[in-house]
Amino acid sequence: MAKRWISVPSRTKEILETYDLRAKKGFGQNFLVDPVIVQRCADEAHCEGLVIEIGPGIGSLTEQLAERAQKVIAYEVDEDLIPVLQDTLKDYDNVEVILQDFLEADLKTLVPEWQKQYGMVTVCANLPYYITTPVLFKIFEEAPQIPYITVMVQKEVGERFAAEPGSSQYSALSVEGQYLYKVRKLFTVPGRSFNPSPNVDSVIIRFAARGVSHEDIDTEEFFALVRACFKQRRKTVYNNLREYTGNAAEAEEILNRAGIPASLRAQQLTVEQMIRIYEAVR
Ligand code: SAM
Repeated sequence: MAKRWISVPSRTKEILETYDLRAKKGFGQNFLVDPVIVQRCADEAHCEGLVIEIGPGIGSLTEQLAERAQKVIAYEVDEDLIPVLQDTLKDYDNVEVILQDFLEADLKTLVPEWQKQYGMVTVCANLPYYITTPVLFKIFEEAPQIPYITVMVQKEVGERFAAEPGSSQYSALSVEGQYLYKVRKLFTVPGRSFNPSPNVDSVIIRFAARGVSHEDIDTEEFFALVRACFKQRRKTVYNNLREYTGNAAEAEEILNRAGIPASLRAQQLTVEQMIRIYEAVR
């Protein structure tokens, strides 16, 4: 008999009723109730060794990851969901649920250990929207060796991460994401695929590590420079740099050394050009 997945709307409803659960806005809870979307998301996630999930909710995506991966480690901050997950995922002995704020997880120690044990470590999650950027930057900074991060995010945020130079959505966020990863928008998920339905659509995006190491770059300094270059989007990169350095001649000299015309705006610059500006600043 075909399995009745957790994300089948009537099954989700039953689970929520059985445990008298209401989605908590404060934890960004919107449960996926669309088995096709959930399975497609898991199919895209490169589930080979261990998959880290952030926010399993009642387990709908976790279940699909557990079907495909050797091991799933899921971080959930809402203690009320722990007994629910123990029940909904009881058929899977390859799932470990950790009751912890993911932002507190010690990825620097854990990911290398998991890599030794399971080979590949990847991330797949329907992210709580209120902490999308902090979660992603934590992974970028603490576990840059993770080759694939496949996440559902608010459409607007996903489009900014994946935007190409020259497009209206291209921003500091695009450069910061694309500095280490190729970012691809995979597909859109309509609000009706969730319970409760959010007012906005979502997208699934994938960060695939570019396999480059920027050993000479201090990421914090680089990101500060990128943000400064985008500070006033309508101004030229020269004007923004002049404000950043506090010195017009220095701003001009930096752009000369980097080989970037002073008339361009940050929105038109590729990640490589931004790196050239950083090197010239140094
Ligand atoms: N994965 C489930 C799904 O797709 O139906 C639920 C996704 S829901 C958008 C976000 C989940 O993240 C919720 O279960 C919420 O409790 C959890 N969450 C919120 N903040 C968290 C945090 N700081 N650390 C770990 N989980 C968190």
